[in-house]
Amino acid sequence: MGKVTGFLEFERLEEGYEPVTKRLKNYKEFVIGLKPEEAKIQGARCMDCGTPFCNNGCPVNNIIPDFNDLVYTGDWRNAITVLHSTNNFPEFTGRICPAPCEAACVLNVNDDAVGIKSIEHAIIDRAWAEGWVVPQPAAVKTGKKVAIVGSGPAGLAAAQQLARAGHDVTVFEKNDTVGGLLRYGIPDFKMEKSHIDRRVKQMETEGVVFKTNTIVGELPKGSKVTNWATTTVTPEQLKKEFDAVLLSGGSEQSRDLPAPGRDLAGIHFAMEFLPQQNRVNGGGKVKDQIMATGKNVIVIGGGDTGSDCVGTSNRHGAKSVVQFELMPMPPEQENRELTWPYWPYKLRTSSSHEEGCEREFAIQTKEFMGENGKVTGVKTVRVEFKDGKFNEVPGSEQVLKADLVLLAMGFVNPVDTILAGFGVDKDARGNAKAATEDAGAYATNVEKVFAAGDMRRGQSLVVWAIREGRQAARSIDEFLMGASTLPR
Ligand SMILES: Cc1cc2nc3c(=O)[nH]c(=O)nc-3n(C[C@H](O)[C@H](O)[C@H](O)COP(=O)(O)OP(=O)(O)OC[C@H]3O[C@@H](n4cnc5c(N)ncnc54)[C@H](O)[C@@H]3O)c2cc1C
Ligand code: SF4
Repeated sequence: MGKVTGFLEFERLEEGYEPVTKRLKNYKEFVIGLKPEEAKIQGARCMDCGTPFCNNGCPVNNIIPDFNDLVYTGDWRNAITVLHSTNNFPEFTGRICPAPCEAACVLNVNDDAVGIKSIEHAIIDRAWAEGWVVPQPAAVKTGKKVAIVGSGPAGLAAAQQLARAGHDVTVFEKNDTVGGLLRYGIPDFKMEKSHIDRRVKQMETEGVVFKTNTIVGELPKGSKVTNWATTTVTPEQLKKEFDAVLLSGGSEQSRDLPAPGRDLAGIHFAMEFLPQQNRVNGGGKVKDQIMATGKNVIVIGGGDTGSDCVGTSNRHGAKSVVQFELMPMPPEQENRELTWPYWPYKLRTSSSHEEGCEREFAIQTKEFMGENGKVTGVKTVRVEFKDGKFNEVPGSEQVLKADLVLLAMGFVNPVDTILAGFGVDKDARGNAKAATEDAGAYATNVEKVFAAGDMRRGQSLVVWAIREGRQAARSIDEFLMGASTLPR
């Protein structure tokens, strides 16, 4: 274990941030990672618990006490081996995971949790800098062909595992570059895209073929889902040419707000706004980019996506940014006795909120107001949650100025026509139906077609997508070969 008395001697140390004035001038990452000697002290805080709740709280079951100890003793080389044994892409999760492992850490019962995420971040950044992350091509090829639809974290994790098991893997992506929401949802200031490019190179050397600008199946007419495909492949072609197909196309159907005035110009889904800025940051061109510059911006939706809209609007130079959340303001501190080791209900203030944003809770949008076809304001009402439903507070109506409204209320399900094209059954929430346990895990009702990530579980987290991609890869390997040595 770290240091026997480490948790008594040392305080938790948070990663640093560049000052707001500096970071708002660009889209670069601004988190200052721990120095090796700082990471060592943080590793020393780990108690190597008899039952490491952190390991269960982590969706990829990272072997956290082991890499904490290895960092404490300075064995960084083995620390990355342990970390990679459960997670293909720690540089993604070390940056953008909300760290359910830390909520579950035993030290979090009555002290500050071990800084697991900052240690993970330090290990993988050092591993890349030292040249320890190298391609691992399969020693023996199987001759089996696997198609993967969608290049988000689920598709990438599955592709890497399957290529390393010796299969010929082709990833189809409708957008112009690989990465899914890592590329075109999550802003660069949270995760720069060079981290994806580096992995794509590694995977190409391992034999993975990427076909970008290629859609499998079709979107409904007039769909606002991001799509830069120039080539279409039919589900039938895929089923005919490949021995197995994995659907990992994400949950891309944004939730709409069909209030009066929704058709006014200046009201957009978050996933129309964010991908454009990410594309420009990547050197691409966008015609008539949606800009927040000089505008009063209202972001509807209090989650991660909304917070990313806040950060991007402030970098554009918005005049004001207000974020709405329907639910009441959560408590600043969780009740740990009630919530530990689970994900606690508490107020979360992101780095984007700290950069400047007014947050309104228990507020509902009644109508979008406009002049000459353009949005000028939002009519709202306060709500109270009582008897299992939201009730309007009489006399609390208000109109807030708005020149740009961004809808960030989450995603309802995967695009219907893509699943229908394959004939895949859906669950009650409209996701691809596939169980995750036992033999045939992640298999859909259609012979040799599997599903994983947000497309199967609904909108979720990068770390869950990586877990599902890895587990689906094992299941596909078993289906193709009769047995698998890939980890579950
Ligand atoms: C703005 C935003 C911010 C987020 N921030 C965080 C965060 O900070 N931390 C976190 O853990 N999670 C975050 N998430 C959630 C996280 O990004 C997703 O849960 C995760 O990316 C899902 O991975 P996936 O591989 O299942 O799908 P996706 O990442 O959605 O990738 C699916 C890919 O499939 C492609 N595709 C779909 N259909 C087809 C088709 N028919 N043919 C070809 N290609 C197709 C899509 O273009 C897309 O590139 C965020 C989500 C959003 C929207
Ligand atoms: S729960 Fe916390 S203290 Fe215990 S092993 Fe995991 S990281 Fe270490």
